[in-house]
Parts: sequence; structure tokens; C-alpha cells
Amino acid sequence: MTASDALFLDRVSHDFGKLRAVDGVEITVAAGEVVCLLGPSGCGKSTVLRLSAGLEALQQGRIAMRGQIVGDAATGRNMAPEHRQVGLVFQDFALFPHLTVAANVAFGLTALPAGERQERVREALAQVGMLDYAQTYPHALSGGQQQRVALARALAPRPALLLLDEPFSGLDARLREQIREDTVHLLKASGIATLLVTHDPEEAMFMADRIYLMRRGRVEQAGRPSDIYYRPLNAFVASFFSVVN
Ligand code: ADP
Ligand code: MG
Repeated sequence: MTASDALFLDRVSHDFGKLRAVDGVEITVAAGEVVCLLGPSGCGKSTVLRLSAGLEALQQGRIAMRGQIVGDAATGRNMAPEHRQVGLVFQDFALFPHLTVAANVAFGLTALPAGERQERVREALAQVGMLDYAQTYPHALSGGQQQRVALARALAPRPALLLLDEPFSGLDARLREQIREDTVHLLKASGIATLLVTHDPEEAMFMADRIYLMRRGRVEQAGRPSDIYYRPLNAFVASFFSVVN
């Protein structure tokens, strides 16, 4: 761990009853890095993300952000989610249907003076190319547009880390490719550290600086996309990637 790492998970495990959902996971997201947490359904990806966000109490291990311990099972330290400076986007977008796009994006900015809040909303909507839709309601937007607004809402408070859980999986294939490309450009331009959960190897190959491939709660292999793809450490890793070819 270094002080500049946006996220560091140190031997984190998590049980649901008798099920070990996360098993001794070590993950680092450096400043400015886009890291993909990849693996089949049920392997523990979302649990890792929820633990990182502080939405799930830490049972075993430690979590640090920017050199500061935010969770430590040994001491019981567990910083509240709202203090971790993370932006969250989940698969179902979950925009408030009764609020305009602008009001949705402003939701996490109540602590700011009105003028600054408006400026932040404009900035975030411009980043995702949705400025023209500020006064529109979510139901009038396409799935892809709603996803952009959800991303703007997560970015508006200027978090130090973005946590994305299968953010594109509700979208149809063609739209998904486009929004994937737009999102990776946006993330790289903003320089925000990102941990993106996906079950889609192609998505991880395209978006990630580094990939952690999980199976049954464990990290099977970590590395750059090309390293994992061309030098799989075991049959599981090889077969997971060969599914897309
Ligand atoms: P993924 O996101 O990779 O699909 P999850 O982290 O959601 O996997 O789940 C990992 C395992 O933990 C799965 O077997 C899932 O059924 C189980 N699980 C997840 N959340 C809960 C929960 N709240 N209670 C009980 N079991 C859970
Ligand atoms: Mg999941």
C-alpha cells in the first residue's frame, strides 16, 4: 500500500452464514487507474465493491483509501460510506423518478451553496454529454442516457474513487459498446481511480488498466489485460477468456 493508492484491500474475507463469499482478497487501485474486477456470477465481485464502499461491515482484513485505514476488522474501525469519498453506480441506475436530471445530479451536493451546486451539476452533466437534458425527467430518457446521468450523479461530488457495479449490463449490445468507449474516455480524461465490476471478459479487456479475475471468492489472477489473456496461470483463467472468442 502507498499513500497515493485510491483503494487497498488487505486480506479481506466475508462470510454470509456458512458461505465464504470473499476469501482473502488483496486488491489495489492506484491513483488514476481503471481496474476491473472480473469473474462469473456469484464469485463475490459485488460483495468486494460493497465492502469497499462501506455498505457491508468488514468481518476480516483491512481496507485503506489514500493511505488512511477506513476499515479494520481487528480494531472494529468502519468508516461510514458517506465519509469514504466514493461515487457509486449500480446496474439499475436507480435515478429518482420524481426529480429532474439536474436535481438527480444535485442530490449528493446539498452541503454546497446553491451557486456552486449548480456549477457542479453543469460540469458533471457536460462531462457525460447530458447538459441539454438538465430539466428532463428520467422516464423520458433512454437506458443509455439514464446510465450517463447516474455516472454524472456519482462524479458530481468529485469522489476520490468511483465504484461501478455492472453499470452497462442493463443495456443492449450496440449501445453497450458505445457507452463503454465513452465511459473509458471520460474516466481517463478525469483521471479518477475506478474499480469496475463486470462478468464480461471483453468489457474488462477493453476498459481495464489492470484486471483481477475472481472465482469462488478468490482472486485467481491479477495483471494487465494482455498478460492475463496471453499468459493465463491456470485452466480456469484460460477458459474464462476463451468463452468470448
Ligand atoms: P457477484 O457480484 O460476483 O455475482 P456477489 O458478491 O453478489 O457475487 O455474491 C457472492 C456470493 O455471496 C453468492 O453466492 C451470493 O449468492 C452470496 N450473497 C451475496 N449477498 C448475499 C447476502 N446478502 N446474503 C446471503 N448471501 C449473499
Ligand atoms: Mg454482482
